[in-house]
Amino acid sequence: MTDNNLENELRPAIAILGLGPMGQALAAAAIAGGHPTVVWNRTPDKARALVAQGAVLAPTAVDAVRAASITVACMIDYDAVRASVADVTDWPTCTLVNLSSGHAGEARAMAGWAAQRGIGYLDGAILTPATTIGTRAATILYSGPRSLFDRGRTLLETFGGTSIYLGDDVGTGAAYEMALLDLFTMAVGGLAHAFALAVAEGIELAAFARFAKGIGGLLPDMADRFADQLAAGRFPADVSSIASANSAVAHVSAAAAARGIDTAPLEAVQRIIGRAAAAGHGGDSYARLAQFLAKADHADA
Ligand code: NDP
Repeated sequence: MTDNNLENELRPAIAILGLGPMGQALAAAAIAGGHPTVVWNRTPDKARALVAQGAVLAPTAVDAVRAASITVACMIDYDAVRASVADVTDWPTCTLVNLSSGHAGEARAMAGWAAQRGIGYLDGAILTPATTIGTRAATILYSGPRSLFDRGRTLLETFGGTSIYLGDDVGTGAAYEMALLDLFTMAVGGLAHAFALAVAEGIELAAFARFAKGIGGLLPDMADRFADQLAAGRFPADVSSIASANSAVAHVSAAAAARGIDTAPLEAVQRIIGRAAAAGHGGDSYARLAQFLAKADHADA
């Protein structure tokens, strides 16, 4: 084995398919980690900066996969990944790691699709923004065959701080990602709604932002309480009760209506709280609400 081959053995070649902000960050981290890096994107222009850093631009996804021992796909969704690699017929030793967002069912379907073609498949979920990739702040979850995670580990760790293997159920990473994205999406919706009301009330926005950060600061402890109480099945309202939330959301809804702000998001929360209160849980903590979101509960809403 020549020195060059030995180096490649220690630092396996990686193909990155998809060069949106996240794919570009992953490719830059792989290059910085010393891995021979082949990139491909539907729109090849986006590879320019990476080529200047040392990446090789493959003319097709087929060429990219053939050049690598591990292919990382990071695109807008699973369909885009499948469409991009549809023409790849030989995946002799190349593992496909899919870091595109999607739900657990899609990850499992993708694993089935890969198995039919003899492709080793690992699914991943990136929990932190593109700017964290290659830094200690990055967190990426992986699920699928342990042997594939172990084989790709050196390379996958160049993407950043924390790589966590969740187990061989390939949908687990996507399940975490979706539940966390649920939290993020609803929090952003809450922030937008609160700012709309603040603007309508003529509140000084920088001052409002300072108080809003205080509300955000309550969430970490609440997450622990939700986890503990849902696991234990006991919901002591030692901080705030559902009855009190019921009254609070009614006040906010009236304030929003008075200012012509859309009350639909608040009405959705009111319905959940109302179901829990009607079932006799007004004295319980907020964590109890998580038990009143199953689809069957909506029938009587
Ligand atoms: P996007 O989610 O906007 O995805 C853009 C990439 O998808 C581009 O490479 C684009 O190609 C490609 N693409 C879209 N449609 C197709 C198609 N039909 N066929 C082939 N390629 C297609 O950008 P990001 O890079 O930000 O995100 C990639 C993934 O990473 C997403 O699933 C996202 O949820 C996830 N993620 C992103 C984070 C971030 O901070 N950006 C954070 C955490 C997760 P083209 O350039 O040709 O349009």
